Formats: sequence, structure tokens, C-alpha cells
Amino acid sequence: MLTVENLSVHYGMIQAVKEVSFEVKQGEIVSLIGANGAGKTTILRTISGLNRPSSGSITFENQPIHKVVPQKIVAAGLCQVPEGRHIFSGLTVQENLEMGAFLRKGNELKEDYQMVFERFPILKERKNQDAATLSGGEQQMLAMGRALMSKPKLLLLDEPSMGLAPIFIKEIFNIIQEIQKQGTTILLIEQNAKMALSIADRGYVLETGQIVLSGSGEELLNSEEVKKAYLGG
Ligand code: ATP
Repeated sequence: MLTVENLSVHYGMIQAVKEVSFEVKQGEIVSLIGANGAGKTTILRTISGLNRPSSGSITFENQPIHKVVPQKIVAAGLCQVPEGRHIFSGLTVQENLEMGAFLRKGNELKEDYQMVFERFPILKERKNQDAATLSGGEQQMLAMGRALMSKPKLLLLDEPSMGLAPIFIKEIFNIIQEIQKQGTTILLIEQNAKMALSIADRGYVLETGQIVLSGSGEELLNSEEVKKAYLGG
């Protein structure tokens, strides 16, 4: 579904991503793990069209997308939930969800609100509330609900567990699995390697801009190198 080949990304003289290649197949959860500054966010932003590669290619459903503008990438079915959620404060929960559907027309939106509210009942309860008043976990749910309103085929999640209490982290990861079961493919980047690998079909480990290990979620969870570097020994 998504193929990244020999991707390099620079910020001026700094090379943040070095010849990275990986793929995400339809129906999978793929986790990209790595320490702070490893280049995870840069890879996601480049897939979404927010950064441009200095070399390499990105193909989504057999179409090259590395020169395509972000809104066309969203329209093609690829949507990112950014790190830090970026919900719109001053707008209500419902209005935030509407923003997620701004590229879509038609009457089926009502059903999609229904779908989002079923998955995240707390958002229904709070739908008329200013989004800024939600807790961190609720804002993450809103950011995910807003992305689902664009009906993505592939959902890109940037550190969904960041800053959340353990109970919310568990809930968010359960929801990610439910979203996969209902047919959306997921590329997840996380510093919480344990959670990210435990729900992943496959994973990749990124170090200073390069992929150093790959395997099934289970293989990586049991790898001595991963245990030592990311799972606390
Ligand atoms: P984090 O978990 O902290 O988000 P990350 O793995 O997502 O880390 P990136 O944010 O992609 O890593 O950063 C990769 C490298 O690129 C880092 O060395 C970072 O300092 C650098 N970098 C990121 N954004 C910029 C920028 N806008 N300008 C210059 N350098 C940047």
C-alpha cells in the first residue's frame, strides 16, 4: 500500500533521514520506533507532503506521492494525526470533527459522526464543548476522530501515547487495534516501544536517521538489542 524507497530528508546541512526504505501492506499495523531525534516525525511529515525528500521515493497505492501537495495526499486516503494533537481551540469538539471532513462532500457525513461518537463516547458527551477544555487523552481521541472523518485508507499516528496517563495509553492502543480491525491500515510512530510493538504486525527500528532492525512485532519485542535499547533491559 505504502512503499518508501531510499528516502533521504535534510534540514539545511543536517541529514535527518538517511536512505530509509520500508513498506506498509494493506491491513497492517506497522510501528516505527526509535529514540528522540531518530527521524520518526520527519519521515511521517515527508509521507504527508509537509516536508520534501532530498532523494528517494514514496509510493501510495502505486502512485508516487513525494511531489504531491498535502491536501491531495489526504484526498487520496492518507491522513496524519500529528504529534501534540493540534486540535483547534476555540472550536467545539463537533466543529473540530467537521474540519476533518472538509475535503469531503455528500450526505454520508452524518453516519461518520455517528461512527466517531460510537468509538469515542466521551466526544459525544462533550461535542458542544470547546476542544481546548478536554484532557490530554480526550484531545488524542478527538485528533484521531478528526482524522477518521477524512475516511483514510492509511492512518499515520505520531506518538499517540505522548504525555498520557497509563490508563489512557492502554485505551488509545485498544482503539488503534479496533480501527485496524475495521479495515484501516496504520503506520504508528512511538517512543513507547513496548506498546507500539505489542500491537504491531511488523516494526522497524530507527537510529539516527537509519533503519537498523526490522521484523514482526513479536520478533522485535524479543530481540536482545531492542530490549536493551528500548525496553529497559
Ligand atoms: P521526536 O521523538 O523528538 O519527535 P523524532 O524521531 O521524531 O524525534 P525528528 O523530529 O524527525 O525525530 O528529528 C530528526 C532530526 O532532525 C533531529 O536531529 C532534529 O534535531 C532534526 N530536526 C527536526 N526538525 C528540524 C527542523 N525543523 N530544523 C532543523 N532540524 C530539525
